[in-house]
This record gives sequence, C-alpha cells and structure tokens, in this order.
Amino acid sequence: MNYETVIGLEVHVHLKTASKMFCGCSTKFGSPPNTQVCPICLGFPGVLPVINNKAFSLGIKTALALNCRIAEFTKFDRKHYFYPDLPKNFQISQYDKPFSHDGFLDIETAEAVKKIRLKRIHLEEDAGKLVHKEEDDYSLVDYNRAGIPLLEIVTEPDIGSPSEAYEFLVKLKNILEYLEVSNCNMEEGSLRCDANISVRPIGQSELGTKIELKNMNSFKAVRQGLEYEAERQTAVLKEGKKIEFQETRLWDSEQLVTYTMRSKEEAHDYRYFPEPDLPPVVPNAALIEEIRKTLPEMPKQRRERFIRDYALSGYDAQILTKEKKLADFFEACLKIFNKPKIVANWLMSDIAAALGSKGMSIGEVSFKPQDLAEILGMIESGAISGKMAKELLKESIDTGKRPAEIAKVKGLSQISDKSAISAALEKVLSMNQKAVSDYKTGKGTALTFLVGQVMKETKGKANPALVNELLKKRMGGA
Ligand code: ADP
Ligand code: ZN
Ligand code: MG
Repeated sequence: MNYETVIGLEVHVHLKTASKMFCGCSTKFGSPPNTQVCPICLGFPGVLPVINNKAFSLGIKTALALNCRIAEFTKFDRKHYFYPDLPKNFQISQYDKPFSHDGFLDIETAEAVKKIRLKRIHLEEDAGKLVHKEEDDYSLVDYNRAGIPLLEIVTEPDIGSPSEAYEFLVKLKNILEYLEVSNCNMEEGSLRCDANISVRPIGQSELGTKIELKNMNSFKAVRQGLEYEAERQTAVLKEGKKIEFQETRLWDSEQLVTYTMRSKEEAHDYRYFPEPDLPPVVPNAALIEEIRKTLPEMPKQRRERFIRDYALSGYDAQILTKEKKLADFFEACLKIFNKPKIVANWLMSDIAAALGSKGMSIGEVSFKPQDLAEILGMIESGAISGKMAKELLKESIDTGKRPAEIAKVKGLSQISDKSAISAALEKVLSMNQKAVSDYKTGKGTALTFLVGQVMKETKGKANPALVNELLKKRMGGA
C-alpha cells in the first residue's frame, strides 16, 4: 500500500510595532532581561489592556496581501495554561472570531502552481522567554518578550510534502518582508513555525492522526523534522499499527530525530472565554480600503517588472526578487550605473559568493549600491581590470571599507599607459620568439598566449585590451 503525507503549518510572526500588543512597553530586541515590562505585561491584578492599533493595521495589511477575508466582527479571548513564561496564566489570543480567514498563498511545486489555503490569521500576544543554562539547576525568565504582538497564520492541511512546506515558508517570509510587517528573524524568534503532520493510505478520504512538531529554528529544520516524521509515521502504518493519539513532538537538531513532549491538548483544555477587558472590534470598511492602498508591489509583480523593464531572464529576475533587500540594492545601483545585466551578474555571482562565505545577506553588510556602482565604473573607464574588481569587491564586503580607498592603498589600478606596458611587452617578445613566429604564420592562439605573458609580467595590472592592441601593432598583421 502507498501512503501520502498531509501537512498544515502554524506560523507565528512578531509584528513590527514600537510598543507591545496591550501596553506601552518597548518591543526592542536584545535589551537586558526584564527591562521592558510594566504591570500590564507582567499580569498584575487590576490592570487594563489597550489594543495596539498599529498591530491591528499591520495584521490587516498582511491578511489582505494573503488574499484573506477580513471579519466583520472580531474579538479577543483568554487562552489558559499554566507555565512560568505566562505571567497572567492566560494568553490574550483570538479563538472563534479571528480578525481574518479564508485566504490562500500559491506555491510553485515541481509540477505546477499549487494553492495552499489559509484557514485563519489572528492576533495574540507573545509569552516571555525561559532561559536555561546548562550549568545551573534553575531556569530564569525574561518578560521583555511577553506581550509582543504576534500574528498567527494557520494553513489548511493542503501541504503535501516537506519540500512543499519549505517552499511555502520561503514564499511567506518573502511576502512578509515585502510588506515590512515583521523582521522575520528566526534567530531572534520573530518568526517561528509549528508543523502538523499526518500520513494516510492514498485514496483514503479522512485525515490520519496528526502530530504537532515544535522546536525547529530554521526552515531547513522544519523540512528535516517533517521528513523524519513522515518516515516514522509511514513505518508505523506499514507495520499494520496505528498512530494512537495526537501528540506534540520536539525536533532534536543534533540527533536529527523527533521525540515526544506531551500528548496534544484539546481546545477545551484551554478554557477559552472572551476577554472581558477588551471590546470586540468591528473593522471599519473605509479603514480596510485605506490599508489596501498601502499594499506595496509584491514579489511576483516585481519579478515581472524586472523581466519587462530590465530585459532580465526569468531566472535572474526570480533570484534578484527573492529577497526584498537584494531587489532594492539592484535598483539603487542601477540609478548610478544603468546596465541591468552587468549589475545583475555581479550580484548573482561574486557578491553572492562573498556574502555566502560570510554567512550574511546583503542587508547585513556595509557594502552599498554606490560601492558596486563605483567598482563597475572603474572597470568601464579602464582604471581596473575585471580581476582587480573581484578582489576589490571581496575586500570591501569583508572589511566594510570603500572600494576606491582599498584600490588606492593596495595600488590596484590598471596600467593603461602605453609606455609603461611596452617594456614588459618587449621582454615577452624577446623571450617567446616561437610564439611570435607562430602568430605570423596565422596561429591565433599564439596571441592569446602572449597577452597572458604580458599580463603575468605586469602582475595582472596591464589593461588586457590595450596589450592585445599593442601586440598586434608590434608584430604586424598575421
Ligand atoms: P488544533 O485545534 O489541534 O490546533 P486545527 O484544526 O486548528 O487543530 O489545525 C491546526 C493545524 O493542523 C492546521 O494548520 C491544520 O491545517 C493542521 N491539521 C489539522 N488536521 C491535520 C491532520 N490530520 N494532518 C495534518 N495536519 C493537520
Ligand atoms: Zn508592558
Ligand atoms: Mg490551533
């Protein structure tokens, strides 16, 4: 019998607001523990929460971009559980009336475009963060994160494989970055993903028992965890056994296995009830239209515009728009050096390689569009060779220094002065009589060889086009 995998994702993203969801505390990341807290986010008795309007608008903006419907009536609920990261012993979330629902996101699988339906998107507050140090026999808790606005995006179980899940996450993150609603930084915890997965015999209409997977801190980990779990569950079914009950399992990124954390709680375990201290919200149609107008150009449109306006291939446009910061970099560079194909090539080859070796992305280094434009300008004017440009670029990205500065210090400038080249040229000619006579008898490769020798003699600093021209002149026509 053959089996198929069914996956649904729950993605949590921090919204980019200055203050928390229900109080005025800062959301800044990385401050000393418990310095961004107040009686509201610490859950003192008698305090009253207030809804953060900005978080609500960012939520609506995201929902609109993800083709969701905005609810006509929405409210907040208390979700109860007892754990030290949750000072009130309940989280303010949304239960049966989320502010948006029924959207979709298209992903590209190997075969076709596939629609992944979004069940709901709701707003809630984040919990605090527990800190366990290996050597200590106690845990610490940091409430700076408690109360940060969170958007929870829940898919229908439409995802058919771990790689589709990966594709979905990449696409979703790309959109969230374009919308500028979240930093989407998985290391800082501003984007997190729980995955639900079950396996069933192909042809069976009802879904299998699902397992919830947590503790994956990268998209790659999500894919690996799902692959492991798909295999594990399939093996259980193949033995004629059943996945007995729903449970939450954790991904162990060292051992590359999942293990049981707890049996999955049911909705009734949470004792949901409407938050009595917050009014229900009736999103205003005019406001929704205002927000719709602020939707930026999305990755797909930008990709199409790049193909149309800059005559790029679909492949190049795809790569350049995958990250908003990269696409912005590309267009900023074109404002100074307007040769799209050349700029695209440098971004996708040498710059990508230099960034890759640092493990950083374009937004994280001090190398700016004007730096690339400057280097490309230097190549065009003959001031430096392509090879020098590569060196310059790598060093500029590594050290954060301006290219012109590095070129000056290292004496990286191309010799475009005929008299300076001719000494080297004469030396090469006298040492390579055979190549000279080969050239004269019409052997084209002899010229290439001689140009190479002159370049070597000048330590790569001669302008190769000029060397070529001078050699031909000096040796006479072939
Ligand atoms: P719960 O009430 O347990 O949180 P939901 O119905 O809210 O369950 O679904 C949570 C997530 O799990 C959704 O992303 C959904 O698509 C996914 N899901 C639900 N049932 C299954 C299943 N049998 N197999 C895989 N994923 C599932
Ligand atoms: Zn607070
Ligand atoms: Mg749920």
